[in-house]
Amino acid sequence: MKALVIGSGIGGLATALRLRKLGLDVEVFESNEFPGGKINSKWIGKYRFDMGPSVFTEPELMNELLQLAGQETFPYRNLEESCRYFYSDGCSVTLPVDEKKLIDVFTSQFGESEHKVKRYLSRVKKNYEAVKPVFIEVSLHRLRHLLNTKLFHALSRIPFYGLRSSMNDNNKLFFSNPKTIQLFNRFATYNGSSPYKSPGMLNIISHLELNIGPAMPIGGMVEITKKTYEACKSMGVKFNFSEKVNQITLSENRVCGITTNKNTYQGDIVVSNMDVHFTYEKLLPTVKAPTNILNQEKSSSAIVFYWGVKAKVNALGVHNIIFAEDYLNEFECLFKTKTQTNDPTVYIHITSKVEEGDAPIYGENWFVMVNAPINEGQDWDEIIERTRANIIQKVNKTLKIKIEDLIEEEEFSDPRKIEQLYFGKQGSIYGNSSNSSFAAFYRHPNFSKQVKGLYFAGVTVHPGGGIPLALNSAKIIERCVKEDYNLI
Ligand SMILES: Cc1cc2nc3c(=O)[nH]c(=O)nc-3n(C[C@H](O)[C@H](O)[C@H](O)COP(=O)(O)OP(=O)(O)OC[C@H]3O[C@@H](n4cnc5c(N)ncnc54)[C@H](O)[C@@H]3O)c2cc1C
Repeated sequence: MKALVIGSGIGGLATALRLRKLGLDVEVFESNEFPGGKINSKWIGKYRFDMGPSVFTEPELMNELLQLAGQETFPYRNLEESCRYFYSDGCSVTLPVDEKKLIDVFTSQFGESEHKVKRYLSRVKKNYEAVKPVFIEVSLHRLRHLLNTKLFHALSRIPFYGLRSSMNDNNKLFFSNPKTIQLFNRFATYNGSSPYKSPGMLNIISHLELNIGPAMPIGGMVEITKKTYEACKSMGVKFNFSEKVNQITLSENRVCGITTNKNTYQGDIVVSNMDVHFTYEKLLPTVKAPTNILNQEKSSSAIVFYWGVKAKVNALGVHNIIFAEDYLNEFECLFKTKTQTNDPTVYIHITSKVEEGDAPIYGENWFVMVNAPINEGQDWDEIIERTRANIIQKVNKTLKIKIEDLIEEEEFSDPRKIEQLYFGKQGSIYGNSSNSSFAAFYRHPNFSKQVKGLYFAGVTVHPGGGIPLALNSAKIIERCVKEDYNLI
């Protein structure tokens, strides 16, 4: 059997590897000239930048994947602190990856009750562990996946998930200090959503970073792509770069191949790692699109400045957040008015803090990101200029430096570029947002219910946004293909 994979994002690469391991002949088509989709890297002068993702959790998923190819474990380091937070009133905290010290930060610096902090961290851990085997690792759309022994445990915890209240409302039940609430609310942005609209269930995201702690691949995030790409090639997966797929060809209700800008190809299985919205819009014009899924609100986008900074700023760590003063307003701008606030939360990621070769000896590579609304034709040139000025003002006020004098290299990315380069619908990063109680059920399944042989991988489909979830989408496809073609 032959499988054709559209796109070499991590979801596409992981699926290619898994289908090859099943014994299929696998060929990947990528419109860019490089693999990895958003997980790619670039040198700008003497500074190296990971261009997309920066937060890496659940490294065991990469180990598991590479081991299928007989490779060694994935090389990464655990970080000692998860993030440094700076607030508009000048207060700052560093969150250590150590339960006792972490609780101490919340109690001694934010005046929270030790009992409540412990209860919260324990609850998100238990919730995460309960939902993982029934919502994250399997298809929500196949009964036989759902009916496993863990289902009853997951159902028994429903009262603790906070399904009927927002993340923010849930966090307010536990914490008294608005600073703590803002910090925990922040995890909604990990899948491009608003904490004021996403269900309390999504507070489980904080478990991976606060209870377990973030990891960092040795050599940077791009190693996730490099190692998976090399593993695929070693197993005989064939790659075609600079080859854009224009259509998925069908024969009655089953796939029979693809047409690209260069050629046509026959296949028994097609896996789309392209944003599911564009897969229907551009590649499947004759198939009735599931509008109830595709018309859901989109996740947010991002503006990123890549700054080569000719100084060492000791106040910053690997991951840093400078919070907006009015957090609610920031999300109203992102999702309601689709404008860019003048007081955005600024995320600064500096890999050279631990990867010394990523910057010259005198400098640091700053990845400076703010959340942005999706592209609806706003005047992005004006927004970029204004946002840059706002970020500079905020960084200078917080860190007491003059950052504009220290930037010796600079590039930027914005929602238009995300749409053009990776085909993210309107520049959205994770497909649909999770801004409703039932958002998880409005994610597209990993297989087509209408077209036999068609599967979907990556962050725009089930189980959702982020690298671990894209890796899980590949695992789910592997299981579905095994079932559909009796390969067990
Ligand atoms: C600025 C930014 C920051 C992020 N931060 C994080 C983070 O910290 N942690 C995290 O886990 N995630 C983060 N993400 C999201 C992250 O990028 C995803 O989790 C993951 O990389 C997406 O993988 P994917 O498999 O969905 O595919 P993508 O990376 O979106 O790749 C899809 C690929 O398909 C190709 N393609 C599309 N259409 C076609 C076609 N018709 N023909 C051929 N090829 C096609 C595209 O060129 C692209 O290479 C971030 C994203 C951005 C943009």
